[in-house]
Parts: sequence; structure tokens; C-alpha cells
Amino acid sequence: MNSRDEALALDRADPLGALRDQFALASSTIYLDGNSLGVPPATAAQRAQTVIAAEWTQGLIRSWNSAGWFALPRHLGNKLAPLIGAAENEVVVTDTISINLFKLLSAGLRLQNERDPKRRVIVSERSNFPTDLYIAQGLIEQLDRGYELRLVDDPAELPDAIGDDTALAMITHVNYRTGYMHDMAALTQLIHRKGALALWDLAHSAGAVPVDLNGVDADYAVGCTYKYLNGGPGSPAFVWVPQRHQNAFTQPLSGWWGHRAPFEMNPQYRPDDGVGRFLCGTQPMVSMALVECGLDVFLQTDMQAIRRKSLALTDLFIELVETRCSEFPLQLVTPRTHAQRGSHASFEHPHGYEVMQALIARGVIGDYREPRVLRFGFTPLYTRYVDVWDAVETLRDVLASEAWRAPEFATRGAVT
Ligand SMILES: *Cc1c(COP(=O)(O)O)cnc(C)c1O
Repeated sequence: MNSRDEALALDRADPLGALRDQFALASSTIYLDGNSLGVPPATAAQRAQTVIAAEWTQGLIRSWNSAGWFALPRHLGNKLAPLIGAAENEVVVTDTISINLFKLLSAGLRLQNERDPKRRVIVSERSNFPTDLYIAQGLIEQLDRGYELRLVDDPAELPDAIGDDTALAMITHVNYRTGYMHDMAALTQLIHRKGALALWDLAHSAGAVPVDLNGVDADYAVGCTYKYLNGGPGSPAFVWVPQRHQNAFTQPLSGWWGHRAPFEMNPQYRPDDGVGRFLCGTQPMVSMALVECGLDVFLQTDMQAIRRKSLALTDLFIELVETRCSEFPLQLVTPRTHAQRGSHASFEHPHGYEVMQALIARGVIGDYREPRVLRFGFTPLYTRYVDVWDAVETLRDVLASEAWRAPEFATRGAVT
């Protein structure tokens, strides 16, 4: 592509173009960080107002029933299910990915211990998002029964690392730093061939790429609602367990929301039959209610259309960075092969942190991940082709002018 006009022409022909109006996004901002925190759906502010003024202020305690609060984790789970190839009553929206991973890892290890107690290894990748690894480490220490976390440095090592000692493989579908995407069908098949369970983290997949959990016969999954699903800062995560595993599923966070009859106030825990047993305690209703606003936008399109535009946006971004910023030390770390790419594109630069701060100061918001990685997320519901063009021109200007060398861009906040 050689001109901004060509980008504008692509926007005019974009079948998803009109959906951008359903988001509250300032026109002066080029937002390329929807993979970290989605943009508010335009309906979210009104929904928050309704939850606070009508459901909480007027309804008070009655709203647990009358406003559907108590049913919301299941209701939203069912609404989210089609986006990830899940069936009715297999998903609940609740807690955080970290907490849900603890539940799934506990249940998976226990299930495998009953089938084949010599399987004591959890396999994952060293490049996985750290909380996934931390939770596995914490659980292993807590169990104190000789479990081990085995980490590989390259996806190509997975076939050898997963063996007859492996209870479970915990794999993040799209890598948060590089955007590398696993072949979920092939890897699930391999994991099963080795007798292990396949646990997928969909943090950078749900709402970003097509996922078919039942189609690939996966065992467990978790994911985020505040990234591509636009649920709001800290909105609850989701957990998926297929029907076939639900009643053999036991986990130690046996809180009252997972009880089959929580209001019997029975001193004995008895898990719900089915999806309810993945819940633990009372959920943040103000935040959870807003998750629906994001899901309602997805229901107006489909993941195939989103995927087509996502690949076109990341292709264009990579092409423009490589042609228009070729004299600068930028190194693509995201796979060029479509089948191995999620919905973000990352480049290394020796001064990645400072360059990103300078971009943000000019209204192009991406983010930075250690070490040296500039990360740009492309969210087809509201990212335009012209945003890609303008972002690369801004990047070129920041690099050519060396604006990133200004001292204020070297100061780090608590969140990068
Ligand atoms: C964003 C992300 C998380 C976040 O976990 P929380 O417990 O919800 O904060 C976990 N895993 C991966 C792979 C992520 O990308």
C-alpha cells in the first residue's frame, strides 16, 4: 500500500466498518491495545447507570432475583459459548483467569490421579503468561505430592515433553508477547494420544480468532472478558468444562455459589450438577453486567468475518512497518504464516519502551512487553485500515525524529 487514500478505500468497503459506531472511542485516539483492555461499548455507560440507579438503588436485595443477578454468570456463559465453540451450560463467567486455572488444574490433576497416578507432570511453555505458571507452581507446592511443572522453550519441543508421565498440558492458544498461535486441533490430538488432558488458555483468542473447543475435543479452557471481548477493566473471566467432564469435576474452591442448593445453608458441601460447580463465591455484579454489552456487539457478526479483517489488518501493519520504517532496527517477532498468527503484531526495538511511550504521547496507544517488545493489537470491531496507516506514519516520525529520546519517555509506571 502506498497511500492513505488506499486505506480509506478499504474502510469504505469494510463489511464490519459500521460496528465501530457501537464503541465509545475518541476520534483523536488510535487504539491498538484492545488485546489488553478493550474499548467500552457505547451501551456500557447506560447499562452501568441502570445497574446502579434501578437494579441496586431501587431493587436493592430483590435484584438478585428480579434483575437476574444470581443467574448472570450462567446467562453470560451461554451468550459467550458460540464464540468459542462451546455448548449451552458449559461456560460460566466468573472470577479471574488465575483463579479459574487453579480450579481446572486441581480438577485435572485429581481426575488423572484416579486414572493413572504415575502421571505427575504439568507441561507448559516458559513463554506462557506468567500468572499461568505461577498458579501451577502454587498448586504443586500446596499439594506437596511430587508434581512437577515442565516448561519448554519452543513449541516444537512439546511432542517430546508430553509423555506417559504427563497429567495435563496447559497451553495458551495465542502467545501474549509474540502473537504466535498454536494449532489447537493438532495439539489437542497429540496431547490426547499421549494420554494427557488439554487445558487451553484463550486470553488472546476469545473474540480475536475462531475457536472450536468441542470441535477439537479439548478438556478445559479459561479466558478473559476484558481484552477482545470489551467487558471493562477487571471484568470477570470465563471457564469452560465440556459436559463429559462436568460431574467428575472436583476442585478445592468449594464455595457456596458452587453448591447445588446454596440457600439451603447446609453445612455439607455438595456440588451443583453441571456448570454451577465451577463457581465459588459472590460475583461483582456491576462489572459483570457490563460484559453483556460487549457480547451483544459480537452477536451482530461472526468470528470468520472478524478473522478475515484481523488478518488483513495485521498483514497491512507488518507490510507498512517493513516498507516505511525499514531503516530502523525493528524486528518482527510475530509469525508471518496466517495459521500461526493471532490478532496482534509485535516488533522488537532496542528502545521499545521509550518508543512506545512516545507513540502513546502522540495518541497511538499500543503497549510494551519485556524484553524490548512493542505490541500492537488489532480489534476488527473498531480498528480501521486508516488507523493502521496513521499508526505506522506516527511510528516512522517518532523514529526518524528520535522523539523517543526525550527523558520523560524513560520513566516507567507500575503498569507497562
Ligand atoms: C491476560 C492474561 C491473563 C490474566 O489473568 P487474570 O488472572 O485474569 O488477571 C492470564 N493468562 C493469559 C495468557 C493472559 O493473557
